[in-house]
Amino acid sequence: MKMKNLPRAAERFLRYVQINTQADPLCAESPSSKGQWKLAQVLVEELAQMGARDIELTPQGVVLATIPGREPAVGFLAHLDTSPAAPGGPVKPLLHEYQGGKIILPSGEVDHPLLAKAVGCTVITSDGSTLLGADDKAGIAAIMDAAQRLLAEPEAHATVRIAFTPDEELGRGTDHLDVVKFGVSAAYTVDGGALGELEWENFYAQNLRIVIQGKSSHTGDAKGRMVNAVRLAGNFASSLPAVALPETTAGREGFIHVDSIRGSVEKAELEVLLRDFSSQGLAQKRSLVENLLAGIVSEPGSYRVEETGGYLNMKEAVAKNPQVVELARQAMKRVGVVPWEKPIRGGTDGAMLAKAGLPCPNLFTGGVDPHSRSEWLVAQWLQRAADVVVTIARLWGE
Ligand SMILES: [Zn+2]
Repeated sequence: MKMKNLPRAAERFLRYVQINTQADPLCAESPSSKGQWKLAQVLVEELAQMGARDIELTPQGVVLATIPGREPAVGFLAHLDTSPAAPGGPVKPLLHEYQGGKIILPSGEVDHPLLAKAVGCTVITSDGSTLLGADDKAGIAAIMDAAQRLLAEPEAHATVRIAFTPDEELGRGTDHLDVVKFGVSAAYTVDGGALGELEWENFYAQNLRIVIQGKSSHTGDAKGRMVNAVRLAGNFASSLPAVALPETTAGREGFIHVDSIRGSVEKAELEVLLRDFSSQGLAQKRSLVENLLAGIVSEPGSYRVEETGGYLNMKEAVAKNPQVVELARQAMKRVGVVPWEKPIRGGTDGAMLAKAGLPCPNLFTGGVDPHSRSEWLVAQWLQRAADVVVTIARLWGE
């Protein structure tokens, strides 16, 4: 490991990734894992040492702090947890002075088209047996590095409110964030990918649980009597348009996804995700689902559709305050980064905050290929992310 020219934010990052904060989907508590507490406590201590104000660790594991400055206050968020989709630790970070080609790891390799942009930089990976956790410890490291620098120049920037939230990967990132107490009219999540990524548009999302009621009877004696809920559920899944599935769509196309089917002859339950970049598109997908069900499950009242969750497109909140994105663009340009704007085929904490009317675009962290053992981060991109946070705070203060 060559450490001599490692950017400061990357040094922080290397410390944070060694705390395993993998979210546990089977745990209903907040935070869902002990490691998240541990990291939260480390951050509280570091924030205190650097002189941040109003530091708080809520009983649900949300870290809050203030960097005093001018009006208005602007927020920055990152999440404490890492994804349960790949082994979460222990993370053994490796540093590579990257010269091109694929990176061979002790157990695996990293081969990605965006690596070509990292030639001459320091690439950080895991050893291939776990994820790296740049999602989202890179976001935390960027905000912490920025906080330290902003505290040294109190009058030259807006007041900054920091929130580190637990269990974003479980869709619970903002469940315990008191938006009123957070007290900002604009915020940014630092939870994006490669250098320059700036995201202010995401899916409208609706999650449905469909319950189909069947009728059981002895199979030898079922003629004209049995209604097999399992078969009806299967019919529904296969009747969805093949051109509107996650596996057949990209870019700005929405989809309908059957995420799970559980059931028996008497009752089948389907978890179905609807996603679209327009609210009308989402409503159309909802009516399509209802129409298909009505055609397949002939007996009225023998099925029901419940909404179990979802989020809004953050574009709605951003449209009311376009300056939020404009200042992010300007900040990137000031630190020599070309903004790379694209819609997110998913949701973020910002999408949850859009419900509360808070505009909250997403900034790059320098991490790529999240939720996988081949996740990687460019140390210099991470430092640029910290620079962008500092510069956004300055621009809001002007
Ligand atoms: Zn994330």
